[in-house]
Amino acid sequence: MNTKELKIEACAKIDEYRDDIIKVVKKIYDSPETGYKEKKTTEIIKKEFAKLKLETQDNISITGLKAQAKGKGSKPHLAILGELDAVNCKEHPDSDNSTGAIHACGHNNQIGIMIGVAYGLIKTNIISELDGIIDFLAVPAEEYIELKYKEHLREQGKIKYFGGKQELIRRGYFDDVDLAIMAHSIDIGEMKDVIVGPNSQGFIRKKVKFIGYENLSEKIFEQEINALDAAVLAINGLSTGSGTNIDKNNTRIYINNEELLKASGSIIMETYVKGSTVKELINVNQKVNRLIKEATKNVEARAEINDTPGYFPLLNYEGLMDIFVDNLDGIISKEKVIKNFTLQGFFDSGDLSQIIPVLHPFFSGVKGSLHSDTFKTTDYDKAVITPAKVIAKTVIDILSDRENKLKKFNSSPYNKEEYLSFLEKISS
Ligand SMILES: [Zn+2]
Repeated sequence: MNTKELKIEACAKIDEYRDDIIKVVKKIYDSPETGYKEKKTTEIIKKEFAKLKLETQDNISITGLKAQAKGKGSKPHLAILGELDAVNCKEHPDSDNSTGAIHACGHNNQIGIMIGVAYGLIKTNIISELDGIIDFLAVPAEEYIELKYKEHLREQGKIKYFGGKQELIRRGYFDDVDLAIMAHSIDIGEMKDVIVGPNSQGFIRKKVKFIGYENLSEKIFEQEINALDAAVLAINGLSTGSGTNIDKNNTRIYINNEELLKASGSIIMETYVKGSTVKELINVNQKVNRLIKEATKNVEARAEINDTPGYFPLLNYEGLMDIFVDNLDGIISKEKVIKNFTLQGFFDSGDLSQIIPVLHPFFSGVKGSLHSDTFKTTDYDKAVITPAKVIAKTVIDILSDRENKLKKFNSSPYNKEEYLSFLEKISS
C-alpha cells in the first residue's frame, strides 16, 4: 500500500474504535491522580496496550509506562507521548472528593490520543509496513505542583528532577529517540481548531531564606526586622529592575506570597525567574542572585538561595510542523489553524525540545481555562479523535520516507549531556 492508502486505513480504524478510545479518556477522568502518584492511570493504560498485544514496561519513573512497536529496522525511532497527571482544583465540580485532584489540564485527552494512534497503526498492522520504531510513552508528573511531595521523593533518592520528562531524559528513555510527538488540549474559541508550533518561555524556581544579622540573635524580633529589611530591598530591586540590567520584557519575577513566611529570625521567599532561551534564563538567574546578595549585604543580613530547575522554553521545529500541517488536510480546514503562537504557561516538553525535535500542537474540543474549575472537555472528536488521526498520518509520513525525513528537521540546540549539565548548574 502507498502512504495515502495507509493513512485512510489508519483513520478508518481510529473511527471504528472511537467509542473505546473515548471510554478510556472518561475512565481516566474519573480517577484523577497527580504527578508521581498515577498508579491507577498507569494500570488503565497498561490494559489498553495489552489489547494491542504490545509488551509494556511499567513504572518507568515511579509510575508511567512504555510500550514499543517495531516496524522495519531501527530508524527513525519515534516517541508518542501522553501525560498522566491531573492538577489540584477542589472547586471543580468533578474533582476527586478526597484529594481535590481533577483533569483540568486535559491530560486524559492526551492518553486517548496516544491510544488512538496505537489503534490506528497497530490494530491495522500498518506498523509492519513502516520503517523504524515507535515508543508509546505514558509520562508522569508534567505539572509543576505538589513541590513538597516531590522534594520528599528527591530526598529519598526516588527522583532527581520534578518533571516527568526531565526524569525520563535522565533515565535514558530518549537516548535513541529521534523525535517526539504529543498533543495538548486548549480552549481556543469556536473559530479555531488547532495551534501548530506554539512556543513558550522557561523558568527557574528560587527559594530564598533571608537571615537577619546574627549579632541580634538574642533579640529574635529585631533579627526578623533585619531579615525583612533584606527581603524588602531584594523584592524592591527585583520589581523595579533598576541597576540590574534585567530585561523586563523577557523576564518576570513572581513572588509567592504563601512562601513569604516568617521563620524565627528569618524570612522565606519563593520566586520564579522567566526567560525565552536556556542561556537567557541562566543569565538572568545569575543576575537575580547577585541582586539578592547585594540587597542583603546592604543591611548586614545574609541570604541562602536554593534554585531548582523549572522547565525550559518549548521550541518549534519547522520541518516537523510542515509535515503535520500537510496532514491536517481533509481533517481541519486552513482557516481553523493558528501558527506560531507564544503560549503563557510552561511545559516540561520544553526540556525535551532542547535535545530532540518535538511536535507539540494544541487542539480544541475543550472549554475554560487550564487548571481552573471551568475547564471541561466538550467535544471528544475534536479533542481526541481528530488529533489521533492527524498524528497517525504524520507518523506514517515520517516512518515511510526511505530518504529519511529526519535529515530535514533543524537540529536541536543541545545534547543530553549539555542539557543535564544545565540542570546541574541551576541546582548548584
Ligand atoms: Zn497540561
